[in-house]
Amino acid sequence: MSTDPKDAFKTLMAESRNTVIFTGAGISTESGIPDFRSPGGIWTQNKPIPFQDFITSEEARLETWRQKFNVEQTMKNAKPNVGHLAISQMVACGQVGKIITQNIDGLHQASGVPESKIIELHGNTTYARCLSCRTRHELDPIRDAFQRDETLPVCETCGGIVKTATISFGQPMPEREMLEAQSDTMSCDLFIAIGSSLVVFPAAALLPLAKEHGAKLVILNREKTDFDGLADLAIRAEIGDFLSNPQT
Ligand code: NAD
Repeated sequence: MSTDPKDAFKTLMAESRNTVIFTGAGISTESGIPDFRSPGGIWTQNKPIPFQDFITSEEARLETWRQKFNVEQTMKNAKPNVGHLAISQMVACGQVGKIITQNIDGLHQASGVPESKIIELHGNTTYARCLSCRTRHELDPIRDAFQRDETLPVCETCGGIVKTATISFGQPMPEREMLEAQSDTMSCDLFIAIGSSLVVFPAAALLPLAKEHGAKLVILNREKTDFDGLADLAIRAEIGDFLSNPQT
């Protein structure tokens, strides 16, 4: 394989019949949404609240909603960037069959990728659900009541606890999405991980799963990951620049 990362990437893409792309928070930093672990990222400002605390502590629920509404406008203002658009093009022309994302921002959908081609492993932050009966709740009335007097949302159907439709640390993974992601990972011949520190499990376990089932593995990230040694090609670059000009 060529030692030039762009040539090597192009060759692997051309040889593949079934590519899966796996994305993390890094794909969205160029849209103005901070990632988790980079300096100044969400992690450094908002300590993640474990699922068990959310369930058992009213104060943890209040803090979770406060954090949510603090960053909501940033998420709402964000538009897909050149990286999202390049991936969307790859899906549109049949080069990429599925996107498995850890992101909760909906920007792959906004870039034009059909919902049926996207697996959201960690849910979506643009709406909420009852943790008991799974009824969907929209954010506008929840925000209004919360910002008025910090009223916590309660499910009007069953009285259950309402939470954004995201997966917190310690919360069970969504079963259908996980099975679908594993199945797509096992059947692809090229698995490309983009913009993830690859330290969040079980999502990161998809990389060795892809390799075990014979896929070539590419990692595109601005810093090293623990899985670089497993990769056929580890590219250290800015995502937008690399994906928008893979030939140059
Ligand atoms: P992470 O913050 O742990 O890792 C992001 C990685 O992307 C880092 O290694 C960083 O160096 C790299 N990166 C950032 N911008 C880049 C760029 N422009 N070009 C190249 N590399 C870049 O994120 P993660 O691995 O996805 O795990 C964090 C968890 O937090 C995920 O589960 C995700 O659900 C959640 N999260 C989501 C969003 C979002 O939806 N946009 C944002 C923050 C966190």
